[in-house]
Amino acid sequence: MLLSLLLLLFATRLLLRWLNLHHLKRFGDVVPDGWEHVIDRERLSRSARYTFATSRLGLLEGGLGQLATLIFAFVLLPVYDRWVVSCSESLVLKGLLFFGLLTLVQAVAGLPFNAWRTFVIEARFGFNRTGWKLWLSDLAKGSLISAVLLGLLLWGGFSLVAWSPRFWWVTVWLFLACLSLLLMYVSPALIEPLFFKFTPLARPELEPRVRSLAEQAGIRVSKVRQVDASRRSGHSNAYFSGIGRVKKIVLFDTLLDQLDDNEIIAVLAHEIGHWKYGHLRKRLLVGQASLLVGCLFAWWLLQQDFLPRLVGVESLSFSGRLVVVGLVGSLAGFLLTPWSSWRSRRHERQADSFAREVTGKPGALASALMLLAKENLSNLHPHPWYAVFYFSHPPVVERVARLQGEAKTA
Ligand SMILES: [Zn+2]
Repeated sequence: MLLSLLLLLFATRLLLRWLNLHHLKRFGDVVPDGWEHVIDRERLSRSARYTFATSRLGLLEGGLGQLATLIFAFVLLPVYDRWVVSCSESLVLKGLLFFGLLTLVQAVAGLPFNAWRTFVIEARFGFNRTGWKLWLSDLAKGSLISAVLLGLLLWGGFSLVAWSPRFWWVTVWLFLACLSLLLMYVSPALIEPLFFKFTPLARPELEPRVRSLAEQAGIRVSKVRQVDASRRSGHSNAYFSGIGRVKKIVLFDTLLDQLDDNEIIAVLAHEIGHWKYGHLRKRLLVGQASLLVGCLFAWWLLQQDFLPRLVGVESLSFSGRLVVVGLVGSLAGFLLTPWSSWRSRRHERQADSFAREVTGKPGALASALMLLAKENLSNLHPHPWYAVFYFSHPPVVERVARLQGEAKTA
């Protein structure tokens, strides 16, 4: 039963990806209306080749990952479970060993794909600026941070399960919620500086414009910084960090190279729009509420006698049962994906409208989006179903058309 549902899930994922690539093959060289001055056919076919290359690798990695998950859950799990149980009496130590080792194997298996993506695909299309030395030092730092966090998470989670067997769904939830909030505070100050260098904007005339824009929306900006993202990759972006009213605005140096002042202001106005409409707060609330429901559901499911039989065995330890809960959870998560993508796209449209109104320059965001799509070799022709299912942003051609439509009527 569970196996057939999982197979159905994996097949659906593959089908969506295949549809997306098939659509790109058919329409890949069509220049969208209104894009003629930004992008030519040659650039477009380069984007298509980039999408094919990354998707093929994603397909291989995802397919092998799904196969490995099935083999682990339906063949190896009982043996692995018995071995971990024989190692220790303590629930906490067993949990640390069980999931620590599993995560390690997963991370090591992902390394070749990561290296291939960076040094072959990204390099071929001129995005990669990372050398082996930087890649390895990022890997070492990242692994150390992940190990500490995972250790903390497993140790705290399993201790709470042992301490409060009847109501751990609420204690574990509180622990996870606090940990994620703490990370949101700590990460910009402690973790990001380990990887990136933040400096004042190289175009200082932008800073007062950014600040006055933010103040119009009621945000106090503590710092406006640029980050040396170009040391690693040519892809561009901008983001806000910090919770509450005080924000740090961060622009990738690559973004500053690609856009003019008005376009950068429009991109930031979009980000400010998210804040103005409370999107981040809403996302946080929905996330924590789903986490609580997930904890309650896991707590209930873990006590059910039929749980081990879902993977064809009679009994499993707590950790082994947790793996089965994870598989059931992945089904639920997949079914919820279109809903959360839809919500996210609605937020993006609101932020786009906000940017258009507040800057008074309707064309600036549209032109920024077109340039960014061109520079980042974005797929201009995703399959509609694929976009409905997965896209957190409306397809860029649709966003631009909407902004330009509004620009003409404004
Ligand atoms: Zn956005």
